[in-house]
Amino acid sequence: MAYLQSARPQASLSKQLANFTNSTAGLDLTLRLIQALAQIAAEVCIDNAIVMRCVTAKLQLALGRRYLRLFSFIDCFERVRDILARDSSLAGAILTTMELVESSCLGLYLLLESLTMLHDMNIWLVPWYTPVLIEGNKFWFYAICISITRTVGVLLFGLGTQPETQNGHPQTDQKGEHEEPFPSQPVSSTTSLLKQIVVDGCDLTLPASFLGWISLGNLGVGGAMVPSVSLYGAVSKLCFILPVLLQNTITYRQKYFSEMVGQVILVRHGHALHNVNNNTGIPDPRLTLEGERQSVRLGQNIAPLGTNTIGIILTSPLIRSIHTTLLAFIDVIDERYYRGEGGIVGGADLVLDPYLQEVDNPPCNTGSAVEILEKEWPDLDFNMLGDLWPLKKGIFAPNKHKERAQEVLRGLKIRLSNVRNDVVVVTHGGFMQDLTDNPRFSLELAGTKVLFTCSTLLLQTTPLSTTMSRATRHFVPFYVLKHIAESTAAPEKARQAAQRTLSADQNFRGQRVQAQRATQAPSATDEPAVSAAQVPIRAALIGPAARDEPHDASAPPLQLKRLIYDAKGSGNLRGTLARREGAERTTDRQVNNVYDGIGITLKFFHTVLGRNSLDDNGGNVVATVHFDNEPQNPLGYNNAFSNGTEFAFGDGDGIIFDYFTDSLDVVAHELTHAITDHTAGLNYEHPQAGGLHESISDVFAALVEQWHFDQTASDADWLTGQSLFPVAIKGPALRDIANPGTAFNDPIRGRDRQISHFSQYNANLDVHLSSGIPNRAFYLAATGFGGFAFEKAGKIWYATLTDSRIKAVAETATFKQWADVTVDQASRLFGTSAAIIVRNAWVAVGVLV
Ligand SMILES: [Zn+2]
Repeated sequence: MAYLQSARPQASLSKQLANFTNSTAGLDLTLRLIQALAQIAAEVCIDNAIVMRCVTAKLQLALGRRYLRLFSFIDCFERVRDILARDSSLAGAILTTMELVESSCLGLYLLLESLTMLHDMNIWLVPWYTPVLIEGNKFWFYAICISITRTVGVLLFGLGTQPETQNGHPQTDQKGEHEEPFPSQPVSSTTSLLKQIVVDGCDLTLPASFLGWISLGNLGVGGAMVPSVSLYGAVSKLCFILPVLLQNTITYRQKYFSEMVGQVILVRHGHALHNVNNNTGIPDPRLTLEGERQSVRLGQNIAPLGTNTIGIILTSPLIRSIHTTLLAFIDVIDERYYRGEGGIVGGADLVLDPYLQEVDNPPCNTGSAVEILEKEWPDLDFNMLGDLWPLKKGIFAPNKHKERAQEVLRGLKIRLSNVRNDVVVVTHGGFMQDLTDNPRFSLELAGTKVLFTCSTLLLQTTPLSTTMSRATRHFVPFYVLKHIAESTAAPEKARQAAQRTLSADQNFRGQRVQAQRATQAPSATDEPAVSAAQVPIRAALIGPAARDEPHDASAPPLQLKRLIYDAKGSGNLRGTLARREGAERTTDRQVNNVYDGIGITLKFFHTVLGRNSLDDNGGNVVATVHFDNEPQNPLGYNNAFSNGTEFAFGDGDGIIFDYFTDSLDVVAHELTHAITDHTAGLNYEHPQAGGLHESISDVFAALVEQWHFDQTASDADWLTGQSLFPVAIKGPALRDIANPGTAFNDPIRGRDRQISHFSQYNANLDVHLSSGIPNRAFYLAATGFGGFAFEKAGKIWYATLTDSRIKAVAETATFKQWADVTVDQASRLFGTSAAIIVRNAWVAVGVLV
């Protein structure tokens, strides 16, 4: 060990220290010690400002130390050449060969690491950074393994003599040997050989844990090293061994806790003032009204992921992010941040993390002073902002964003391990690209993605575990595997096996998705394996409509004008025209599903209710499939929407949601929103009028299905979105019209919180939750009548939807106003007994008394 030998016993301690630190190897080890101490401090400190300083120190020292070994790989290859020239006996030949491989491996590691230097210096960022580091660490691992084997060989069998140089450590500075040759010590004492093995063993854990190859069991080994190390008290030795031990202990801890299940949910803030005209000159802009609305909806959309598992929410301290967080997670965050105006008892912690601020430094991306923020949110803790805030300096400088992202990822790892819960990260579009290591990653406006799960964090080659396979031909569906891989209930082995299978699937999926997106029309053989739960809807969409003859012969003929576009995984509405009205079926099932879904829905409205297309004037219906607001991500868009005139359907992420076009009631639900806009024009933003808007869509979507399947009210399942979810997720659907609040309850999606009685109502509820009240009223009325729900109850509801009395109060329509009109329409259409049935339904849900 060159550095151990460098201490000259005859010199004074301070002279020894000076000599030691003046050599490149000594300097490297000293820096390594300080780096390790900084890392320890960052781990144990509670004060966030100190933690941030320690982290910065650690980063800078790590980078500095890499300069020292930038060209060390040359020495390794020089040595390889020398070894090849060496003549040796048979026993020597074995050692020589091992030495040769070891030096080659170490050389390759150092070379590969050096190749990533420009990336680390933020001079030349390369996409192959992580893969190259991974390969490099493999070579380092092999080098140390051979070094240990060789030392053991020498120790046990006295194979040849100890070679003149020791390898296995990039820290060993070969240049130091050239500058100041060490006195030759041909005889290796048993002590120094043991020491060598201890040090190698310590070092081995660094690449091994980086690669995710070691497990907790080895922690005991690491701990056992401490007493043996203490035998060697010299400063120079401690300088080497102590930091190795400290670093390894931390690595083990991270590794151990990383076995815990948890995921990071990445969230982008809502639409803000600077987004309106892309005006970057607005300082720290606020959310627009649209942004606030998005944030509230985001909270509802994220609920299916199971918000009760969220332990901590980290948010960028820019005003738009704080605001988004407080709005979206009002039912998740602890009440202490809300002054009694929100939050829940024992809710998640909220941390304002300046590391999550946006990348660059125009006014819109520069934070406000702490005093301003404190004034607005006196109950939030701004201590973590530190001295640098809001300056764009140091680690917050625009050119430091990559490092910042690495630190955030590292911090998330530790957080996941400590809180053992899901972590939400609320940040900005630009910084998300760094976090995901994907230059095109960005969520359009407010939205969420699962960034990674704990298990995939071990290997940072794939920080995005989003390349999950959905449409592969594996016997066991991927979501079953994923559930097993992440379930605390599953045995460890089963989880590992599931994870490995998933990893294999991921590659397959990645290639397949690219290929599929590159082709105009995916081949029919690419159809996903059909789960039993999905068969009826899919068959229904493809098969002929059950009823084609109009019930009302006097109605004008239906004019169908469907235009289905394929966004091909992009965020463009009206990408390529995939199927126009009357055209042949395409090979794309999603195109056909939407085409058929629109046809069935419009035929229902025409046949049963006499409506001619959405606008009752035979207008076009334009829809886009394979819509994705995040084209680079192999996961599909997790929603379907109507922008007022057109409809878009995502492919779902395949994890929580399946193809949105597989559900007839999803298509019918979206189309009904447009019909409501054309008729009553209810205000979606109003708590009760909006709840009615949602309920009307749910109700008519159910009626479309029942009509199509020829189901009576008592035969029907009254579920919405039953085929949206992979079968592994318990709970049949997204909403239950008959029994609101019972559609699902599982660890993945949480609990269905839709309400079913007016006593549970409050004006802050999302429209998808308050809609449970009119939904249940409709169900009670429909089952009260018996027979087909669309025959009486459906006609009463449609008559109410087109009633001028509702249109007159559209902006602020209440459940009661709607209920009164339904009772009146029931009486008008079907007589007093019908009115009583409808009235009783509303009484049962507490709207009428
Ligand atoms: Zn809706």
